[in-house]
Amino acid sequence: MSMEFAIARLPRIEFGSGVRHRLPRIAADFGRRVLLVTGSRSLLQGPFGAELEAGFAAAGLDLIGHRISGEPSPEAIDAAVQRYRDRGISVVVAIGGGSALDAGKAIAGLLLPGNPVLDHLEGVGPERPYLGPAVPLIAVPTTAGTGSEATKNAVLSRDGADGFKKSFRDERLVAQYAVVDPDFLATCPPTVIAGNGMDALTQLLESYLSLRANPFCDALALDGLARARDSLLPLYRDAGNADARAGMAYASLLSGITLAQVGLGSVHGLASPLGAFFPVPHGVVCGTLVAAATAVNIRALREREPRHPALARYARMGRLLTGQALRGDAEAADALVALLDDWTRLLDLPTLDRFGVTPGDHPRVVASSRGSSMKTNPIVLQDTEIAAILEARQGGAP
Ligand SMILES: [Zn+2]
Repeated sequence: MSMEFAIARLPRIEFGSGVRHRLPRIAADFGRRVLLVTGSRSLLQGPFGAELEAGFAAAGLDLIGHRISGEPSPEAIDAAVQRYRDRGISVVVAIGGGSALDAGKAIAGLLLPGNPVLDHLEGVGPERPYLGPAVPLIAVPTTAGTGSEATKNAVLSRDGADGFKKSFRDERLVAQYAVVDPDFLATCPPTVIAGNGMDALTQLLESYLSLRANPFCDALALDGLARARDSLLPLYRDAGNADARAGMAYASLLSGITLAQVGLGSVHGLASPLGAFFPVPHGVVCGTLVAAATAVNIRALREREPRHPALARYARMGRLLTGQALRGDAEAADALVALLDDWTRLLDLPTLDRFGVTPGDHPRVVASSRGSSMKTNPIVLQDTEIAAILEARQGGAP
């Protein structure tokens, strides 16, 4: 492991139960006019809504609300940019899950330049460089999963047969502040906790295994995995558990920091086309594939690169997540796969057939899986190996 590394810009971070009350004061530092971007399951209609609106009003802020339904499309971003670009927005506050945060990030990035987001999407269109400037963004996650509050990319989707799920990525898109209040998770339904929690776990695992891994991010990833170990199942069973809420909000934040710095792996490589072609939420697709992908990666490493350092990393995660002092690396790596299989079952993660995926779709998904995430997977997987991950979680009639 080389001791040479670079850490890209991070947001300023406010973390803890009740930090949401600091939001109006933080926003007011950037100016008076706030564009508040929320998701379809808007928090503002729940118990936190009135409290937040009163706080913004008391700080003398002028709030303009914008709601994004579902995962943001390029058209939805362009429409919002055109609608608000002449409104003198001084700061964008994005509150919600990954979709709301990614939408807020893209809108804040384009409000001043005003051009279509397709100009910049990776792998789609002209891929023109983004020159900014971005309007300041405050990211306020209400789920524990994507870690979008700490990343520099907004994932945008077009659904259907010629669909895509691609990133608008630039360091200038990183939020000025991430305000992470675990109390928000109290209103999260268990299915959302399961999918998002497995997404955070996958992001930590894949960044720890990334070909670009560095010691700084390793430390964060391992601590995040330990928090997820202690918190995910308890939170799934009881969103009223304050320690579990804090543990998963923290694991998710760390996963965003590490993925933005060192990249991901095969699960996220597959999540991109699956999420574009089929109506499967990002967290669910990661959660359903992570155990199978881990098994396939370990097998490929043992067959072709038995001395690869990633095998010791799988073993270390096996010992960490099971809490057992397993002696041999092979035994510890196998224990990791078994634990991930158990969690997939305990969290009731659905198989791919439930979202309309058929075995006939696998070749097309495999062909579109070699985007940026797959490039940092610890070993280059063959097409048959990538297909084997899908087959393991296809489900339905054999
Ligand atoms: Zn993810």
